[in-house]
Order: sequence, then C-alpha cells, then structure tokens
Amino acid sequence: MRAITGVTLIDGTGAEPMRDAALVIGDDGRIAEVGAFKRLPRGAEVIDGGGRTLMPGLIDVHVHFYSNTKTMQERALTPPTLATFEAAANARETLDAGVTTVRDAGGTPAGFKLAAERGLIAAPRMRVAVTALSQTGGHGDATMPSGVRMSRGDGPEWPENLCDGPDEVRKTVRSVLRAGADFIKLHATGGVMSPSDEPGSPQFTPEEIAVMVYEATAHGKTCMAHAQATAGIRNAVRAGVESIEHGIFLDDEVIAEMRQRGTFLVPTLHAPRGVLLRAKEHPGSVLPQSLRKTHEVIDTHVESIRAAYEAGVRIAMGTDAGVGKHGTNAQELEYLTQIGMTPMEAIVASTKTAAECVHMAKEVGTLEPGKWADLLLVDGDPLADITVLQQRERLLLIMQGGRVHRAHEDLGCA
Ligand SMILES: [Zn+2]
Repeated sequence: MRAITGVTLIDGTGAEPMRDAALVIGDDGRIAEVGAFKRLPRGAEVIDGGGRTLMPGLIDVHVHFYSNTKTMQERALTPPTLATFEAAANARETLDAGVTTVRDAGGTPAGFKLAAERGLIAAPRMRVAVTALSQTGGHGDATMPSGVRMSRGDGPEWPENLCDGPDEVRKTVRSVLRAGADFIKLHATGGVMSPSDEPGSPQFTPEEIAVMVYEATAHGKTCMAHAQATAGIRNAVRAGVESIEHGIFLDDEVIAEMRQRGTFLVPTLHAPRGVLLRAKEHPGSVLPQSLRKTHEVIDTHVESIRAAYEAGVRIAMGTDAGVGKHGTNAQELEYLTQIGMTPMEAIVASTKTAAECVHMAKEVGTLEPGKWADLLLVDGDPLADITVLQQRERLLLIMQGGRVHRAHEDLGCA
C-alpha cells in the first residue's frame, strides 16, 4: 500500500479542490481511499506531497502515435518496423507529458495497444481506431496526385480504409473491427492535411454513415467522425456518430442537436497551430494546400468551439497530436481556457469528460475509490495558471495504475 499525503486534491469531477488531503493506493494499483486522513493504513509507504496539487492523469482522446512531423520523402524512406519504434517513442513522450490515457484516432494497429498493455513499452492506456474510413478521394485517401499512395502498411493489422457505397462500407467496418478497433473512425468531411479535398465538403452519404453506426453498434462499439464543416457534421450527428472531431464550422442548429443528443465535441485547437509551427520549423512536412487551408480555418475554428462551449455541448480534450508535436498535449488546456473555459472546466474536459468519451469512466478520469491510480503530482496550482501542466519539471510524479512512471528524486519513491 502507498499513500500520498499533504496534497491539494483536484479529483477531476469539477468539485472544489480538497486541501491537506491524502490518497491511498492499494496493492492492486487502484485507489483505495481519498480524503482527509488523520490515520493512514498501517504499513503504507508514505509519499509526502508537500502541499502540491494531486490530480488525475490527463486523457487525450485524439492522438496519432504513428504520425510524425515528417516530409513526404522521410515518410517514403521509413519502413513499417522503424515507424513502429518511432510510434513507441511518441507514446513515451506523451506519457512523460502527464497523459496517462489516449484514444488513437487512426494509424495505430491494435498490436501496439497490446504491447502497451503488456508493459513492453512505456505508453498511456490506449483505445484505438486502427484506421479511419474514407471515401475515395476523401480526407483519408493518401493517394497523391502522382499516384503514389502514402499508406502506412497493409495486411491484417491495417485493413483497407477506402470504401464507397453501403456494401463496401459495411465490409470495411467489419474488417476494421476484426483488426481490433475500439472505435470506428470515419471522415465525414474533407480536411486540412489531405492533398485533394477541402474542409467544406461533406464526405460519405448519410446512408453510408448510418451503415457504419449500425455495424459499430452491433459490435458494442461507437463511431467518431473527423468532421470540419457544417453539412458533414450534421450528417454525422444525425446518423448517431458519438464524437465530432475538430468541429471547425458548427452552426446553431447542429450545436443544438449535439447538445440534445449528448454528442461529444473534440476541439483539437492544437492541430492548426501545430501545422503553422511545422511549416516554420520543418517546411517540407506541410503540403502547400494544407498551409493555405490552415490559414483559412484557424480563426473560425476558435469561434466555432467557443459557440459550442457557450451552448453547453460536452467537450472532451483532444489534440490531434501527430499533426502537431507529440508531448505538447497540455497546451490544449490553455487553448480551452482561451475559448472561455475556466481552468477547472479545462481539467474536467481532460479527465472526467474525456474518460466518458472513450468509454473508460469506470476505470479512469477521476480520483475516486476503485479507479486506477493514474495521477499527477504537480508543483504549482493549475487552477491559477493552467500552463504549469505544460512544464515537465513541474510534473513531479506521474503514476499509472499505482506504478511510478516518473518521480522527482526528492519524493523518495521508486
Ligand atoms: Zn486526427
């Protein structure tokens, strides 16, 4: 048994922080007790929190571990095995940033999740979409105008993702589920990073999306949609897609419908800023049309997310890391405060609500008895300054399932 004492505890539910609190972790790696203890369980190893902030590990519901800020040439010269080791480095980087759970929104096979679960690599807990369904010429069609296709691999772990018409769509969903997907990801509109489409165009017909939702539901799974412009977002929401990723052009009508249905919105405000940074630091890694599209949407994106927030849409934190840099996930919380969230609301979006979005609310997301001890000890007050979460040296302890991933030496724990 372990106890972390003398902390200001933010439990992730949105409740007021508890001063001088303690948290007890059982030998099973789960939280045994939380509260203001006078007497700790006998024999418990005590970690003195020294008045610092204890909070749940962050949850990023939209990352791509197999994506990097690489040029076309670098990608073409990367064999799949090397890509897997690079993805493992990205996963470790993400965990080092205090993100203890992720949903990978496409590109990462289920075997990678198994490697993380078996402790072969240091990585956040994972849910994976495996690949993202796309119509021909859609956002997920990596065929370049030359005819070269920048796909990540093929074989059983990477099912073909291009499909057109209800029958092909049905078969594709079934093969993606066979490959171990936890969520069905689809592209309901064009996007910024693709060579041959625009964010404004809807992709897949309502009928095709309905087939995906039917097949996913039949397997006890749900759908998440890359959806940037209004018409495509509306198609996805009405068909029963559970989370809308990006949501760049939301209107009042679709916002009202999302609110009424309880659809999640995953803003990924990090992504367009990541593209601009990439264009500066690593110019060849961004297609000219992607840079143009980023400039066209970046301001509207912020206003769209602000309107959804003000209307009360459920917002879960996701960065689209892989478009931007891995390990900078906590920047998204700062961006969420810029659209009007309080720091506490940004934390809840990155813990409790994010856990709900990835169907892991029984396991993680809040510091409550019975849940995994996935937590951060932060040197600073994120409610006063949300950017402290971006500073690695302030994350004194990162724990996952009661196991120390990283601890500052002064804490005296291993
Ligand atoms: Zn993405």
